[in-house]
Amino acid sequence: MLQNRHFDSITKTLQNYLKFSGSFVFMEVWKVKLAVFFVLWGLCYSSCAQERPAMVQRPITWDSTREQLSLAYLEERHGIPSKTVDIVPKIIVVHWTDILSVNKTIRTFDPVQLPGRPRLKKASMLNVSAQFVVGRDGTIFQLLPETTFARHTIGLNYCSIGIENIGSARYPLTEAQLQANTTLIKYLMSKYDIQHVIGHHEYLAFQGTEWWKETDPAYFTQKSDPGAIFMQQLRMNLEMEDAVALP
Ligand SMILES: [Zn+2]
Repeated sequence: MLQNRHFDSITKTLQNYLKFSGSFVFMEVWKVKLAVFFVLWGLCYSSCAQERPAMVQRPITWDSTREQLSLAYLEERHGIPSKTVDIVPKIIVVHWTDILSVNKTIRTFDPVQLPGRPRLKKASMLNVSAQFVVGRDGTIFQLLPETTFARHTIGLNYCSIGIENIGSARYPLTEAQLQANTTLIKYLMSKYDIQHVIGHHEYLAFQGTEWWKETDPAYFTQKSDPGAIFMQQLRMNLEMEDAVALP
């Protein structure tokens, strides 16, 4: 922030210039101050706000069944009765898909109901999905609006944006994916009040905190995606300490 004396000196210089130039009518101090304020605010805003990164729209099926199953998930699993499927994003969860193509991933997330996975099915028939998928070349695909509920992380879906990356333990995420995740998350952080950025493998750290909302204490799974190395690099790019990223 500019200190007051700097602000006053800029104001004085501008006022002197306006007087000296003679081409302007004399401006009162408060008007000059106001003009300086707006110029500085504009400069700050343009340097602080993150531009929305380029992304390809690949919307998955959203119908009344998906909506009803999402509302039921919010109520039954998270214990949050709601009339809408809108979330207030507070956490970003980064994943890898274990499926090695974008199209196959989108085809997996597209059906409204979960096809296999008996344990997940018992918890809810709603299919898994995520708001974003990032291809191995760093292309960002948007599957759902940023603030629409998606099932990707037990206990935290109600306040989380999920980013799935095409990759697996055998096919670690690429440099292009790291850059795309960095840009996408910077944009999301400039838009929403994001408190934590985590890898799916870290989500159990939230159990027992106020963030964790799952009505069955025995319902959780162990995850290894996307791994500590990727999250370390990502947080370095985001200039975010691990202590801030985790609860
Ligand atoms: Zn995951």
